[in-house]
Amino acid sequence: MSSYIDSVADNLDRQILFNMPLRKAVILFSALLFAIIAIGSSFAYYFSMRKILNEGLAHELRQTMNTKRFMLKAELDKEILLLKVLSEYPVVKDYFLEPGSEDAKKAVFELFEHHKEYFQSQIINWINVIDSNYYVNGKFKEKYTPSNPEHKWFFDALDTKNPPVIKVAFDYLDRYIYDLYIDYPVFSEDKAIGVISGRISLLYFINKLNLPENILIFDKSGVVIGAADEKLAKNKKTLKELFGAKGEEIHNRSRSMSKNSSQSFGIGENLYVLNSMEELDLFLVSKDKIDTKKILEERATMVFFALLLLLLLVFFVFNKFVEYILKPINKNMLSYIETSLLDDLTKLPNKRFFNMRIEDEWSRAIRGKSSLSFLMMDLDKFKNYNDKRGHLEGDRLLRDVARIFSYCVNRSSDFAARFGGEEFCVILPNTKIEGAKKIAENIRASVERAGKTTISIGLVCKTPVLEDSMHQFIELADQKLYEAKNAGRNKVCS
Ligand code: GH3
Ligand code: MG
Ligand code: MG
Repeated sequence: MSSYIDSVADNLDRQILFNMPLRKAVILFSALLFAIIAIGSSFAYYFSMRKILNEGLAHELRQTMNTKRFMLKAELDKEILLLKVLSEYPVVKDYFLEPGSEDAKKAVFELFEHHKEYFQSQIINWINVIDSNYYVNGKFKEKYTPSNPEHKWFFDALDTKNPPVIKVAFDYLDRYIYDLYIDYPVFSEDKAIGVISGRISLLYFINKLNLPENILIFDKSGVVIGAADEKLAKNKKTLKELFGAKGEEIHNRSRSMSKNSSQSFGIGENLYVLNSMEELDLFLVSKDKIDTKKILEERATMVFFALLLLLLLVFFVFNKFVEYILKPINKNMLSYIETSLLDDLTKLPNKRFFNMRIEDEWSRAIRGKSSLSFLMMDLDKFKNYNDKRGHLEGDRLLRDVARIFSYCVNRSSDFAARFGGEEFCVILPNTKIEGAKKIAENIRASVERAGKTTISIGLVCKTPVLEDSMHQFIELADQKLYEAKNAGRNKVCS
């Protein structure tokens, strides 16, 4: 019989531990909580990493831009210095005062040639007020007149208060491209007597800077005049033509910038760094795509799964913990069940348990329209047995008989109980009369075979409907038992 109790206990154990709504709720809630933590922290990681990477990128861009700007400035300073030195040579002043002197001319031409080579300068132009002859790299080009608008720069340079004049302008003679001009007046006793001018091709400048693809140089009108791509620089397109609204915004920002400053900003997915040059109305802009997405997506997924794994582990431990907490409750529950629902002597379910069960089975049979069989059993002449052998022997016999039931009643839905005294009963759900008879006969024969006593059995079978009375059904079994007794005992009556 112990296996029967074990199975009852086992069943209860499983019910309490694994089907308990509280446990289900705890598990569901914690699973949800862990999922939210996993997803939430992955997102937090994604956005914080994105920010860090963006800041890193902006910093790197600024560094590159500063380097390029300093290089540009160094080139410019070198040219300014050269022109300043040349303008102060006494031979230059002599020649500018007396351009007709062949000796002075020769000396000056040599001097210019020498300096040009030494400084690796591009082109040196000069012109004096006396003969107005314009020389480019030692070659005469044309006579200058104040009426020609192309010659205006010369007269402006003569008048300048803070030399040199630095500007970006078209080369109107040779090529129609942007060049950088540095004009330096030559003074004789505070009077400007001519101008020496350095011209540097912006393309040459930009080549020297080794501009990366993403850096552009544009002037104050927003025209792109320098880029790694020479074609782009030569086309002289405006920022607006190249980049639409974004280009316009960059140009607008450059207009409100103070000289020699830098700023970075994002438009859409792109990050821009804008730099203004100290002496020139030139700006450098670099554009970089925030391509953090791919790396981040990969990393964020990795973090997500690592976290999920970790949380699964936590969840598992938590689960075990819940089980550990519930175990004593479960134990108490079991002992309560044992004391209140099982019979002390035989360890069979007691009458209280029987009452609960028969109601369940009765309504289940009504619902399932299945036949329910019921055996009411009573040991024969048990009083005699008690009287002859004593109560302790009687108790032992009761236990032995209970053990016999565990062999005869083997379907898990079958239910044997001690009804009271030496009366027992068996509920056989889903069992037709023929099957019930076999089981009853088997019980009867087994008790008889044991050789100590016999048993009388009353059997009823019904496919109950809602109108039927369960109590009448049990009473009928009792009557059948009575009939069995009257028929001479050790019988099954149905
Ligand atoms: P019948 O064949 O008509 O059933 O005769 P009977 O003697 O078995 O019937 P009765 O109901 O007169 O006697 C039942 C006896 O069962 C009375 C009591 O001594 C005995 N009995 C009831 N419960 C226990 C128990 O827990 N232990 C023991 N040893 N005997 C019990
Ligand atoms: Mg009796
Ligand atoms: Mg009896």
